[in-house]
Amino acid sequence: MSDSILEEVFIKRSQQKKKTSPLNFKERLFVLTQDKIAYYDYDYEKGKRKGLKGSVDIEKIKCVETVIPEDNAPPERLFPFQMYLFLPQIIYDEGPLYIFAKSDDVRKQWIHKLRHVVRFNKDLMQKYHPCFWEDGMWKCCQQEVKQAMGCRVLETRNGGFSKGSRRKSRKPLPPLPPQPPKQPKFSEGMTVIAEYDYAPMAPQDLELRKDEEYIILQISDANWFRARDKYGWYCKNINRSQAENLLRTENKDGGFLVRDSGKYTGKYTASVYTKASHGTLGTCRHYNILTNHQDQFYLAEKHYFNSIPELINYHQHNAAGLVSRLKYVVSNRTQNAPSTAGLGYGVWEIDPRQLTFIKELGNGQFGVVKYGKWQGRHDVAIKMIKEGSMSEDDFIEEAKVMMKLRHENLVQLYGVCTKQRPIYIVTEFLSNGCLLTYLRENLQHPSAVQLLEMCKDVSEGMAYLESQQYIHRDLAARNCLVDSNGTIKVTDFGLSRYVLDDEYFSSVGSKFPVRWSPPEVLLYCKFSSKSDIWAFGVLMWEVYTLGRMPYERLNNTEIVDKVSTGYRLYRPQMANDKIYNIMMNCWHEKADERPTFQALVISIQDLLDNLY
Ligand code: ADP
Ligand code: MG
Repeated sequence: MSDSILEEVFIKRSQQKKKTSPLNFKERLFVLTQDKIAYYDYDYEKGKRKGLKGSVDIEKIKCVETVIPEDNAPPERLFPFQMYLFLPQIIYDEGPLYIFAKSDDVRKQWIHKLRHVVRFNKDLMQKYHPCFWEDGMWKCCQQEVKQAMGCRVLETRNGGFSKGSRRKSRKPLPPLPPQPPKQPKFSEGMTVIAEYDYAPMAPQDLELRKDEEYIILQISDANWFRARDKYGWYCKNINRSQAENLLRTENKDGGFLVRDSGKYTGKYTASVYTKASHGTLGTCRHYNILTNHQDQFYLAEKHYFNSIPELINYHQHNAAGLVSRLKYVVSNRTQNAPSTAGLGYGVWEIDPRQLTFIKELGNGQFGVVKYGKWQGRHDVAIKMIKEGSMSEDDFIEEAKVMMKLRHENLVQLYGVCTKQRPIYIVTEFLSNGCLLTYLRENLQHPSAVQLLEMCKDVSEGMAYLESQQYIHRDLAARNCLVDSNGTIKVTDFGLSRYVLDDEYFSSVGSKFPVRWSPPEVLLYCKFSSKSDIWAFGVLMWEVYTLGRMPYERLNNTEIVDKVSTGYRLYRPQMANDKIYNIMMNCWHEKADERPTFQALVISIQDLLDNLY
């Protein structure tokens, strides 16, 4: 065992594992050695150490900092300090270790020594929380996620004693190191499986049945979540007109719920909403769930099921005679604000301290994209713009315009963090990720309706952009995202103008989207809503080939040659003539003979109506 460097009796705060567990403070004898800090029970009378209570490896310490004392702290707790520990197996339970020194001098001495011994550790942190984690919240920044990144940058770098060197060079702090990939135990929107039965104890409690699935709606507390069972579509106690009101308020095409047919009938009705098209109002249809002579349930002849959940599950994927497949669960138990509501009126500069980074989603043209929370509650995606990859001032100006674009098939821009580098772009988070990957990996046997619905979603988002005279310039399956309901939303509109990368924005560069570009863009860089239409045709082709690379056997030069002399993509096996016809119309040599997005929406809707 190595020799002790320092020994001291401190008060240690218990780790607050649950919001409701009371905190306690115990005196412990701390012994610092070169590779460990151990703490022992202490016998006051004999002045001797007793049993070992715990220890921390020095190499696991990520940060040593003071803490601002609690309001009305008793005299023995006026000089707290904290150590953040890297303990992957329990990272989600443990906050920092809080220790209280008797005097500021002792605290200084320990912090100084500790920083010295940890100075070569990996993963030293650059940000910390200056106040305590208490009652399920960081007192400094009000974030409710324990693993939330610190909200204050360290005064002195870890390893400390840098006063001299700081005076010499006033270099800004280096960018944050990548966070270790942490898998959150739970996150909102996540499907979880109950480990135990739970009988409701209060009216708002949800009954849990072991092994059944539930969807987390909101993490309100370490122990209590708002959740919906997988039958979230079942609305007890609502009648026909209430159902219609709910469906109309949601105004989602394919919105549905299941309700009791009448008070005492023991029968059920599925109410389905289809959205307005060509100037007609949205309509509600009500289908009684029938039973056949074998007591099986059905909505449409020939499709019989042993249970209602099985029946609903089937019709979530197949309209089979209904006005629409059951696309969106509408429930009277949850009223979520629509994503286009943004994070609040007029907010576009977001305070980065209100962001928590939870996990990395991918890497793009501008750098890393992360999933996180805003104010510890709202799901967001955060693009951390790699320095030198974007012409930032121009983008920041443009962001104000982008913020105003609002449509349910566009990924909503929530705001930006521009007061620091790297700058962040904060957007709506879509849990099923990029459409291209989704087509390649998630869709095994897609139905005709499913594929056409995807195209319709994109065409609606694009028709909106077209109506705002906004050109996308890089429409492709890789720039669409899929939400938890399977709805497609278009993203990255207009962003390509701010890319600083010669390979990208020159039409002869290797990253230029040649495969999605019409002749007039390839030859004269002439972008318009009509060049977006061409790209849309290619995107439809990607959908119907489940994510193949367009012109896979040709290189970029060959594509430019062939496309400008009339060569076109072949008809994918899954696309019938009518669908291929739509694609081919998008690929008219002459830009003004291509349809508008508004016209495309109508053609696609007509095809869909014939499929139902
Ligand atoms: P860039 O546009 O900077 O090239 P991308 O937008 O392609 O970067 O992002 C990289 C990856 O991150 C995407 O492929 C996707 O998987 C993921 N991603 C990006 N934005 C979101 C989002 N809003 N929601 C969910 N995943 C996202
Ligand atoms: Mg992109």
